[in-house]
Amino acid sequence: MKATEIPAFVIRRLPFRFEFNNNYFNDTFQGIPVGGYTQIFNKLLEGCEVRLNTDYFANREYFDDLAEKIVFTGQIDAFYNYRFGELDFRSLRFEHKLLAGVADFQGNAVVNYTEAEVSYTRCIEHKHFEFGQQPDTVITYEYSQKWERGAAPYYPINNSRNNALYAQYAALAAQNPNIIFGGRLAEYKYYDMHQIIENVLNMQI
Ligand SMILES: Cc1cc2nc3c(=O)[nH]c(=O)nc-3n(C[C@H](O)[C@H](O)[C@H](O)COP(=O)(O)OP(=O)(O)OC[C@H]3O[C@@H](n4cnc5c(N)ncnc54)[C@H](O)[C@@H]3O)c2cc1C
Repeated sequence: MKATEIPAFVIRRLPFRFEFNNNYFNDTFQGIPVGGYTQIFNKLLEGCEVRLNTDYFANREYFDDLAEKIVFTGQIDAFYNYRFGELDFRSLRFEHKLLAGVADFQGNAVVNYTEAEVSYTRCIEHKHFEFGQQPDTVITYEYSQKWERGAAPYYPINNSRNNALYAQYAALAAQNPNIIFGGRLAEYKYYDMHQIIENVLNMQI
């Protein structure tokens, strides 16, 4: 949307820079864990039973019976059958391309595109996250997409309507101490990786 249509409380969160620093974040250390996140999660979950591609809502009673306390990281409005209404999200569409014979496409892991004339919002060149030296490269264009039920909910839209709706769900959740609602979907809040990890480490269970 046009800058003039963006609510002031959103604009206020955007950093303005009057210099040539092309980093998006100001953190001293930036990057991903060596080998990616999969390795970390594999190690953290060693010895635990893990079931992938399993929808909690498809067999709710069964999963509720498995444990006394449950950490729920899905959408909080879905958990309560959308009884107060649906929370809005932004979704994304990804377009992947293998560029055979291209060793380096853009020289960087991430390039953001902010101009209205470009239909994608960023381009990821995956090999640069780990300084890959492969002869080919894989890139991903990211397109912003309206979210509707069934699509992947990526970014919460924390405007006053959604925040008020979330507060109603959060009040219900507070009545159920055996379910811990955690993460960006259950708390309806955007988190970066370091923030969500810190949150989990500080969580009182
Ligand atoms: C496009 C995009 C780019 C990002 N880029 C960055 C970045 O550059 N740097 C950074 O620090 N952070 C980035 N983030 C944020 C980062 O991904 C999040 O901080 C992190 O994933 C949040 O962890 P989470 O546990 O809250 O949620 P998630 O990682 O989304 O975990 C929630 C889990 O719940 C599962 N789940 C949901 N519903 C159900 C259900 N009904 N049944 C069973 N399982 C269910 C999901 O499958 C998922 O595995 C980005 C996020 C997005 C969307």
